[in-house]
Amino acid sequence: MISKDRQRGTLIGLAVGDALGAPVEFQPPDSFPPVTGYNYGGPHGLEPGEWTDDTSLALALADSIAQAGWDLNDQARRYLAWYHQGQYSVNGRCFDIGITTRGALMQFENNGDARTSGDPSEYASGNGSIMRLAPVPIRYADLFPDRLEELATLAAESSLPTHASPPCLSACRYFAVVLTGLIHGRDRSEVLAPDWEPLERLKQAAPLHPEIEQVAAGSFRERQPPEIQGSGYVVQSLEAALWAFHDAADLREAVLKAVNLGDDTDTTGAVCGQLAGACWGESGIPAEWREQLAQREMIESALTGLGVPLS
Ligand SMILES: [Mg+2]
Repeated sequence: MISKDRQRGTLIGLAVGDALGAPVEFQPPDSFPPVTGYNYGGPHGLEPGEWTDDTSLALALADSIAQAGWDLNDQARRYLAWYHQGQYSVNGRCFDIGITTRGALMQFENNGDARTSGDPSEYASGNGSIMRLAPVPIRYADLFPDRLEELATLAAESSLPTHASPPCLSACRYFAVVLTGLIHGRDRSEVLAPDWEPLERLKQAAPLHPEIEQVAAGSFRERQPPEIQGSGYVVQSLEAALWAFHDAADLREAVLKAVNLGDDTDTTGAVCGQLAGACWGESGIPAEWREQLAQREMIESALTGLGVPLS
């Protein structure tokens, strides 16, 4: 059964993980005192509870779905509004933009076609589309379980404007099905099992990219840091978030494990925050993290647009 608490938790968890990771972004593993809560600083000099591009782009995607339905060009135009005007930003400025995202948005400005603006080559396989995915499983949760392929197609399409490589598209397909299963209240161990029935159906429709298939088969259970890396590569980012999530006692433990891997901390936190928020819901997020999240009204407005307002 779809739970509004878990739908809301998916987006709020994304923002919480992003904000927890931002102060230590790009720091090598074990080079900083373990993060235990919000803090000042990082490469963008943020205040405690402020979030970065991961949340901004998720808010832009949510706003697009609310205002325009499903329209990739509209999604890309809103990403451009963030890039040029700082819309959807916590402080009115665009910062922390990824190289692949910037290149794709410039391409979109030239050709006006979001279906072909993302770089399809394998080396352009950053984590920039899984980090912002939450609005898709939240808004389209009712496509699970019967219309799984439609859900997976929307997830892959949401990646195209900026990240069109096979691993990125495959990661979005898998991640959306996992998040939606959790939003429906399916057990974490069931959803993450390699033989989960919806996963089997997803793979029958189209095989996963071999590296994403390894993650779905449970690589995150067998590996430990330093093999698990919170890097900007989509495969490692997804694997790291699942590693932090799969055996954590609660959301706090999961997102802190993700962030404390170092490197691309805000995004590993945002990806893990979506999983943990979908699993434990908004009510599973520590109250102080919910209350001290910056610009909460922007996140509330996105949730209202996605059909899951407060109250
Ligand atoms: Mg970021």
